[in-house]
Amino acid sequence: MRMILVGPPGAGKGTQAAKLIDTHKIPHISTGDMLRAAVKEGTEMGKQADIAMKAGNLVSDDVVIGMVIERIAKEDCTEGFMLDGFPRTRPQAEALDTELTNAGVKLDVVLFIEVPDELIVDRITGRRSDPETGAIYHLKFNPPPAELADKVVQRKDDTEEACIARLKKYHSETAPIIPFYEEHGLIRRVDGNAAPDEVTARIKSALA
Ligand code: AMP
Repeated sequence: MRMILVGPPGAGKGTQAAKLIDTHKIPHISTGDMLRAAVKEGTEMGKQADIAMKAGNLVSDDVVIGMVIERIAKEDCTEGFMLDGFPRTRPQAEALDTELTNAGVKLDVVLFIEVPDELIVDRITGRRSDPETGAIYHLKFNPPPAELADKVVQRKDDTEEACIARLKKYHSETAPIIPFYEEHGLIRRVDGNAAPDEVTARIKSALA
């Protein structure tokens, strides 16, 4: 299955991808995770990306498109992939479309996790993750176990200021990809305003 997870920052894309991956047995490709890895490695691309990410801006299309195209050409993506956080702009969606058409394959579904703006800031600023496993928690809605309480970390772009910038970018740059995929009949909408397990159940029934 070739699928895309789309939704505003903090919609739960990463959390849901981690839950779905066991069922679907396809690689979870998160451009945010790939970019954070490049930042950590300190590559030239990582340094550029860090500036954009900290400010809540998007990394340039050229960089992200190249990164994803290289990744989905790998052997483990032959049977499919789950893209999380890509595409985030119309040019990215079009580039992916061209790439898949040239490869003679098609997307199966674009899962759109909808969460109202007024819930996003709370969701993002309370988010924490385990630096070792990448498991995602929320201080209020899904607190980390006691033994991890002192270990969990906050992403640099999960501040209120960066969150507001990311939300604006989402509406101006990413939301326009929804009509693009609607035209292709690929969108499945899921209400993401519920506990993670409930959202997983909704996604499974949307995919059934
Ligand atoms: P995420 O982990 O998906 O929330 O992404 C974190 C940050 O990485 C975003 O706010 C962007 O700065 C950058 N990023 C991730 N995916 C993309 C993308 N497809 N296009 C441009 N920038 C991206």
